[in-house]
Amino acid sequence: MKKNVLALACLFSCFALTPAEAAWQPQLSIGLIDGQEALTLKLPCKSQVFEGNAKKPALTLPAGSQLSITHGGSHFSVNGKKLKNNGEGLFIKAAPDVKDYVFTLSQKDYRGTAKIMVRHGKLALINVVDTEDYLKGVVPEEMPTDWPAEALKAQAIAARTYALENRKRHEGEGFDLCANNHCQQYLGRKSEKAAADKAIEATVGEVLTYQGQLIDALFHTDSGGMTENSEDVWGSKLPYLRAVEEKEKYTKPWKNTFTAERVASLAGKSSHKDIGDLKRIELSSLKIGQSSKDRTVSGRVKQVVFVGSKGRAAVSGNDLRSLLGLRSTMFDMKMSHKQVTVEGYGWGHGLGLSQWGAKKWAEAGKGYRDILKHYYQHTALKKLY
Ligand SMILES: [Zn+2]
Repeated sequence: MKKNVLALACLFSCFALTPAEAAWQPQLSIGLIDGQEALTLKLPCKSQVFEGNAKKPALTLPAGSQLSITHGGSHFSVNGKKLKNNGEGLFIKAAPDVKDYVFTLSQKDYRGTAKIMVRHGKLALINVVDTEDYLKGVVPEEMPTDWPAEALKAQAIAARTYALENRKRHEGEGFDLCANNHCQQYLGRKSEKAAADKAIEATVGEVLTYQGQLIDALFHTDSGGMTENSEDVWGSKLPYLRAVEEKEKYTKPWKNTFTAERVASLAGKSSHKDIGDLKRIELSSLKIGQSSKDRTVSGRVKQVVFVGSKGRAAVSGNDLRSLLGLRSTMFDMKMSHKQVTVEGYGWGHGLGLSQWGAKKWAEAGKGYRDILKHYYQHTALKKLY
C-alpha cells in the first residue's frame, strides 16, 4: 500500500524528460548532512546509484524505494549490497527517463543528485543541484513570497549572485555552500512557492557584476533608513557596497534593556580590563544620514565609550552588537537608574540590498533593475546563461 502511494505521488513529480528543456547552467553542491554513521534516503522517483564517476549504474531502483547506506572504509553498504568507495563518492541520480527528480531526506524533497562521501570516517550527504533549482529552495526562505514581484526578482538575483560568488566557501569540506544561514537557508522543494519560481524564471541566469566580475551580493533584512559603507562594517572598501538612502527612515524600531552591571562587565571583558561600576556612557545622538566622531555616514555606531569607577573602555559598534545580541548598530544608548537602554532601527549588517527597503521601492513602482542599481552601486546586470 505504502509503495502504491509513493508510485502515485511519482506520477505528479517525475515527468518524462524532453531534451530541449535541459539547458546548461552551473551546478552547486550543498552540504546537507555530515558526521553520520548511517543514512536513510527515500526515492520517490526511479533512481540509479553510481560508484563515483562510473558510466554504468551499480544499481537501478524503482520509484518508491528506500536506501539504507553505511560504509566500511573501502566500500559502501547500500541496502546490504557492497559498492566500491573509490574516493569520488556515491551518486544517487534520476534514471534517464525521469525529469523533476527528487530524493527525500528526513521528509524533505531535494532536486538534483545526492552525493554520499566519507569524511573523517563518517558519512556526509551533499546535494548537487542546478543553480536555478537551488534558488527555488532559497528565495522563499529569504523573502516572503506575497511581497511585490519586483522585490522578489531583486532578491532572486542577489541570492543567485551571492551563491555563485561564494561557491568556494566550504571547499575544504568538499562542497560549495551549507544549507543554513551561514550561507543561505535552503530546504529544498518544501520551500518552493509559485511567486518565487516566477521571479527566478523571469531573471534566469541574471547576475550582478562590477567591472565584469561577480560581486559579493550581501543583503540584510532592513537597513533602518540608510545602508552602510562596507569598510565601516568589516574593514575592506568595496566600490559597490556604499551607504545609500532608503525611501523611509527610522524603520523597524527596536529596544533592549540591560543592567548597568552586565554592560560594564561585557565592556570590560571586551577591552581586557576591569572598569568597575558603570558611571557614564559617551555616545552622540543618532541622526540617520549624519556622521559624527563616533558614528558612520549612515549614523551607525562606530564606537561607544563606557566610563566606570576604575577606568574607561571604548567598544566598537560591531562588537557591541554581537556582545549584547543587538539587531543592528544603528542605535542610541543611555543609562539611568542602573539600567542601560538601547533603542535602535533596522535589522542586520546594513550592507547591500535591504529586503524591506526593496519592498518599499517596489511598492513605489521601481523595477528590479533600478532597485539593484540603488543597493549595489556602479554594478551591471549580466545574463550568465
Ligand atoms: Zn555556510
